[in-house]
Amino acid sequence: MKQLLMGNEAIARGAVEAGIDVATAYPGTPSSEVFMALAKMAPEHGFYAEYSANEKVALEVAAGAAYAGARSIVSMKQVGLNVAADPLMSLAYIGVKGGLVLVVADDPGPHSSQTEQDTRKFGQFAKLPVFNPGTPQEAKDMTLAAFETSEKLGLPVILRPTTRTCHVCQDVEVGEVRKSKKVIRFEKDPKWVIMPKLSYLKHQELNVKYLKAAEMFETSPFNESLIRGNQGIITTGVSYNYVMEALEILGENLSVLKIGTYPIPEKMVTNFLKQMDTVLVVEEQEPVLEDEVIKLAWKNNLRVDISGKHNNDVPREGELDTDKVMAIIRKFLGLPEETVSPVSPPELPLRPPTLCAGCPHRASFYVFKKAVRKMDAIFTGDIGCYTLGNAPPLEALDTCLCMGAGVTQAQGLKRVEPERKLVAFIGDSTFFHTGIPGLINAVYNQTDITVVILDNRTTAMTGFQPHPGLPQTAMGTKEEAIDLEVLVKACGVRNVYKADPYDLEQAQKIAARALEDNGPSVVIMKRECVHLVRPSIRYEVETDKCNNCGVCYKTFGCPALFKEDDGVKIMDDCNGCSVCSQICPSGAIKPVRHS
Ligand code: SF4
Ligand code: SF4
Repeated sequence: MKQLLMGNEAIARGAVEAGIDVATAYPGTPSSEVFMALAKMAPEHGFYAEYSANEKVALEVAAGAAYAGARSIVSMKQVGLNVAADPLMSLAYIGVKGGLVLVVADDPGPHSSQTEQDTRKFGQFAKLPVFNPGTPQEAKDMTLAAFETSEKLGLPVILRPTTRTCHVCQDVEVGEVRKSKKVIRFEKDPKWVIMPKLSYLKHQELNVKYLKAAEMFETSPFNESLIRGNQGIITTGVSYNYVMEALEILGENLSVLKIGTYPIPEKMVTNFLKQMDTVLVVEEQEPVLEDEVIKLAWKNNLRVDISGKHNNDVPREGELDTDKVMAIIRKFLGLPEETVSPVSPPELPLRPPTLCAGCPHRASFYVFKKAVRKMDAIFTGDIGCYTLGNAPPLEALDTCLCMGAGVTQAQGLKRVEPERKLVAFIGDSTFFHTGIPGLINAVYNQTDITVVILDNRTTAMTGFQPHPGLPQTAMGTKEEAIDLEVLVKACGVRNVYKADPYDLEQAQKIAARALEDNGPSVVIMKRECVHLVRPSIRYEVETDKCNNCGVCYKTFGCPALFKEDDGVKIMDDCNGCSVCSQICPSGAIKPVRHS
């Protein structure tokens, strides 16, 4: 039977067919829908699903379950793996009993990430098998195969889709759902306790398992060789689709070797290379496959010309597509460059990313920009919707590095520039993710910073997932929410304030008060994301009162406000936050009911 599934949904379906017992995740584009689909299926299929506080926690929860023999899946985006790197490296040594599949979605381009890092490199670093799907069908099939491989080798296995596999839809052949019948019980054994002596032995074991994985992959259905002459292309993942389409359009019949598993099947690749005079390696991101191909050619003393990223024929940055791959193949074959100029799509208006109309974060930034007006201040930022606070006209953020770094970088800056005011912005979900240790550090070292927690009661940027500050779980049950104010006080912060960003006067007083404190202070700016609670009123400009001073659109910049020749207008997407009416010096902005 076939079902139309998005790649991420296909991964979730594969996990359910594999009979998983536990699913964990921290959301992050392009991986988020894997867990969203799993959480929906959890009650029907009887497995446990949770959003964990961060990726390290998610992996450790899944590992605990796998130690007892349960099948577990954990999903995250590529930068999330950096957070989970610590348990991952040790887990590769210790191993697992039940299958553990780690879905890490890579984002070449990147579309919504800080980096274009390649998780296949992480797989090599941790010495763990990696499956690299190119289509939703393959993503589902590889998920099942990854569980089998994990249990055969006793190792966690990485499934590494990229954005285009995650988000494309395909009719996917679905199979039977396997019911988990195994006995799940943790058996006490010294092998679960990592100690230096054991680590050495486990490292030896891991090296053997890594070679065994390469051997197993010689017969994997995910690696295919098509011999059509002595000029060939070696490719992987989504690039395989571009290569096949490009060859069809160009009418060329080159040999093609598709690699879907890492470590690569060396005999299969060597055998392909032996039949080729020239080879082009086509892959996105790092030259992982290309390096392996070059190594094998050298090891086997093969006289084959290898093109790819190392001679700059294939770009190292950004995504590939069929047009780019056609140009690469043309060059490889020495064909004349395409002379017909492609039809250019019409120029689209620039649409820079911005905070939504009525977003409470915009008001929070506005409040703090006003509060520090006469001070020499630095605003450190973090990852989330509020990263968009750096866009004009607010231009409120001076730094953004990674999850939780706003709080800690502010402390570093304060140490070297003690005369400047340091204000760190972080979201509620991100605060639970990695903000807490940074705040504890500020308290412990008594660093004079103000941390502003932008509490919009959700994880908005990745699709409104719950987090530990909310009274519901991924599976929809009602649970005790962790009160941010209580938590912040428990971290040792004495000066803790709460404000509503829509109440500008009160919020500005509180911001000014917090900035006067010595030592760490925290302001919780609490107001639901506009996409959770839509008000019944919107605002309008009374043109006879408006004197076109520009305060509303020049300093606040709500995207629902715009200036036309005959004055300022407010569009229908106004979310009725009222902030523009509070800042208009002429009292020209008034509420009306939504039509
Ligand atoms: S009330 Fe004003 S600031 Fe708020 S969403 Fe509407 S136009 Fe934007
Ligand atoms: S702030 Fe008020 S007076 Fe000034 S342009 Fe906007 S609506 Fe008009």
